[in-house]
Amino acid sequence: MRFLKEKKLAELRGDIDSDGYYCITLIVDGVWCKRSYGHGYNASSGVSVLIGMSTQKIVFIGIRNKVCLICSAIANRQMERKDPVCWKNWSGPSTAMESDAVVEGLLYLENVHHIRCTRLVGDGDANTIAKCKERVPYGGRILKVECANHAVRRYGRAIQKLQGNTSRFSGQTGLLHAIQYEIGRTLVACSNTLIWNATNNPAETYMSQLCKISGGKRINFSKAGGFNRRANIAVLAFQNPAQQYHGKAYKMIANKSPSTPLNKFLLTRRNKYLKRLQRKKLFPNIKKFRPKQNTGDCNYGDSVEKPDMPTEIFESMTENLLSKLKVQNNSDVEFETRGQTTSERWRYERSLRLSSSFFKEVACRKASTPCSKLVKRIVNYMVQSFPPQR
Ligand SMILES: [Zn+2]
Repeated sequence: MRFLKEKKLAELRGDIDSDGYYCITLIVDGVWCKRSYGHGYNASSGVSVLIGMSTQKIVFIGIRNKVCLICSAIANRQMERKDPVCWKNWSGPSTAMESDAVVEGLLYLENVHHIRCTRLVGDGDANTIAKCKERVPYGGRILKVECANHAVRRYGRAIQKLQGNTSRFSGQTGLLHAIQYEIGRTLVACSNTLIWNATNNPAETYMSQLCKISGGKRINFSKAGGFNRRANIAVLAFQNPAQQYHGKAYKMIANKSPSTPLNKFLLTRRNKYLKRLQRKKLFPNIKKFRPKQNTGDCNYGDSVEKPDMPTEIFESMTENLLSKLKVQNNSDVEFETRGQTTSERWRYERSLRLSSSFFKEVACRKASTPCSKLVKRIVNYMVQSFPPQR
């Protein structure tokens, strides 16, 4: 089905080469059964996934296993062989699993489905492209498309690395040159494909599905077929949202319609999924990314703890101000403040009071909102309008 759809879309695009093969874009990525932190790439199983760009569906997965515990048990004469299945299909290094499986997938697509992949979106951390160019007959025509997310991440890491290696730049313009070099190396070099803004997010989605059922890569499931089964289940979960694949699998195995408990389970999952989609439609423009406001905390920033003025002084100053605000004789004030700005008395009285434009903000201020910014604004306004006279 999904091959037909990819072919149809390629035909609509007119993406057929001179040999009559359908040309498509694939998103590829590989994953191991074991987590590595920049070293120790010795996982015993790995899976590569090939996803069609136009349909966003998996078209091929290739699994590599280095270990088969059943065979080693038989070799140690701990058990007898019952079925001829052996899970071991790889003896090379773990790091070469990804490219090998991708090459297998490309050859399969070409020979069986008459599809050629001429554009390959990858995260660029394996020698997949090099191996494809070497081993796939039409390899020379494959265009490597860089994943935008990974390219930007590589750039960020390169800049971070610069911090620790100050010997790389010297003089006044050394730092600028070093940054320019890194931009050229990580971003400009692949700008011809970065302009597509293609990402391998669908592949990452598959990996998160796989992680969910393989114990977050923490448990070793690759002693026999465990990893294979989990990789296949992850494919089903990826292709059918809300776990609707359970129904079809049941039908195939039991040759009858799913029982009531399974139906109920599928229905609740489905409804939850649909509800989530509906809710997403309600708020289409939610901004997920909000830059953190640089307010700091009590140790650093605008709102640091500062020694306050002693209570007695504060109280006496408040009293002082209040006494200044008191008006003894109304008619005097009225007479002396006529003409407003031209009157000295008006300017003095005005400088002691809040203007009406600030009054609402002060009166309606929430107690939970810090008042520092408002106070700053009022003080600035007062200082500008009524400069202290000497
Ligand atoms: Zn075996």
